[in-house]
Amino acid sequence: MLSTMQDVPLLVSRILRHGSTVHAASQITTWTDEGGPRRQSFGETGARAAQLAHALRDELGIVEDDRVATLMWNNAEHVEAYFAIPSMGSVLHTLNLRLPSDQLVWIVNHAADRVVLVDGSLLPLLAPLLPGLESVEHIVVVGAGDTSVLEGCRPAVHEYESLLRGRPTAYDWPELDERRAAAMCYTSGTTGDPKGVVFSHRSMYLHSMQVNMAQSMGLTDSDTTLPVVPMFHVNAWGLPHATFMTGVNMLMPDRFLQPGPLAEMIESERPTHAAAVPTIWQGLLAELADKPRDISCLRSVTIGGSACPPAMMRAFEDEHGVRVCHAWGMTETSPLGSFAHPPAGLSAEDEWPYRISQGRFPASVEARLAAPDGSFAPWDGESPGELEVRGPWIAAAYYGGATGEPLRPEDKFSPDGWLRTGDVGVITPNGYLTLTDRAKDVIKSGGEWISSVELENALMAHEAVAEAAVVAVPDEKWGERPLATVVLKEDAGDVGYEELRAFLAERIARWQLPERWAVVPAVPKTSVGKFDKKVLRGQYAAGELD
Ligand code: ADP
Repeated sequence: MLSTMQDVPLLVSRILRHGSTVHAASQITTWTDEGGPRRQSFGETGARAAQLAHALRDELGIVEDDRVATLMWNNAEHVEAYFAIPSMGSVLHTLNLRLPSDQLVWIVNHAADRVVLVDGSLLPLLAPLLPGLESVEHIVVVGAGDTSVLEGCRPAVHEYESLLRGRPTAYDWPELDERRAAAMCYTSGTTGDPKGVVFSHRSMYLHSMQVNMAQSMGLTDSDTTLPVVPMFHVNAWGLPHATFMTGVNMLMPDRFLQPGPLAEMIESERPTHAAAVPTIWQGLLAELADKPRDISCLRSVTIGGSACPPAMMRAFEDEHGVRVCHAWGMTETSPLGSFAHPPAGLSAEDEWPYRISQGRFPASVEARLAAPDGSFAPWDGESPGELEVRGPWIAAAYYGGATGEPLRPEDKFSPDGWLRTGDVGVITPNGYLTLTDRAKDVIKSGGEWISSVELENALMAHEAVAEAAVVAVPDEKWGERPLATVVLKEDAGDVGYEELRAFLAERIARWQLPERWAVVPAVPKTSVGKFDKKVLRGQYAAGELD
């Protein structure tokens, strides 16, 4: 028997319509380096999104399914693109501006982007790529920039504000199939070619609802969120869409992502929530230690993208009164996969083991652990396996490009359609996930596994250590052994390996302790600010870390 319910498609345009009317007064504040921040209401954003859609359709000839790329920082114009492009039936393709240029060219060509919206400040990055961009017909320059670098380029060049000016501020958004493509994002391709994940209207709508739930970020219209996570990193973790559902104000950092300006914008604009990868927060902590500023306006901070060192969570709470919430996800999971809220009724101290875990899965994300022998490991908090997930905002395949065929590599999808995350961990009977490693980062020493994350977390609890990254290196006797690379704090004094090793010995089993150590000026980072262990392994192989 079928239900008697209405079948209303879950569309990005519905989120836009809601946010720009019901929450018309909510604000997007974009940080600038001159004349104070720019402020724009959700109502104005809705009107400008309609103007952008008219411009794309009527002036540039963009039709449904066409890919429109953005090479932009977090700002109000990027939010306009976030809503206009999917709502008109086209596909928003956010480009990661920190990728190497050959990967960016590959990605644009693979997605067959017809238009690139680019922040004026990023023209020097885009211009040299243009000869290689086969499908791009139009460049739209947002904000001020040196357009002389585009002289003589093949695509037509437009200026964003001129393109929008005078166009209607309402658009008859099409009633699309909710399963159609709304946006796409490529994973950074640390192995092989980058892979395109294509989000649907339905997946983004449901994901936004989850972001808003109290068991996730739990924001309301009395909040202001600061998405430091770039809008090219898995849709800024869903925040722009989620905020339009609930009227949460947004503070957009634009290109000012260094710890100094971040501390300044937090102190002056007083956001109640912020989201970023751990390395950003580590930088902010160091900045605040150097030059104290009041960040107690932050009610909560969402940290994800890589394991959050428990010492850092404690420092935020003890020194700044800011509660950190740890979350796990990946591009293929939209990204929200789990969120580490502790169960109710525990003392503050008893909450910690839950808070430093990767957290619980929301109702829409099913999880299982695939053991090496092909069975599924029990949820007993001890038996490890590779995490596999499925759900309405989890990828079922990658974009196949011109072939039109979706890609389902065996190492990424199980025969019965679950996503293989490549993350190894355990799950407790009440559903808390603890990741011990990425499958490719775990250290296989004499038939036993050593968690690089556990060693890093223990090291980063030492007062002289600013950052620590542990990687597997080849070892004749054991197969692999851990190499600990550490960045020492400026005032670390003459702390040596022996002291760090003794510190670890109090917390970690002896056979897991690293014999190889290196002090480095900085841990190399990936394009989204995570530790780049591939680079460290390469440096060790090249004899640069002895
Ligand atoms: P990339 O693969 O380019 O880093 P993603 O952002 O999709 O891009 O990365 C997802 C991966 O990041 C996850 O598979 C996991 O290994 C790691 N990750 C994300 N959040 C966490 C977390 N809270 N703890 C540990 N690892 C995490």
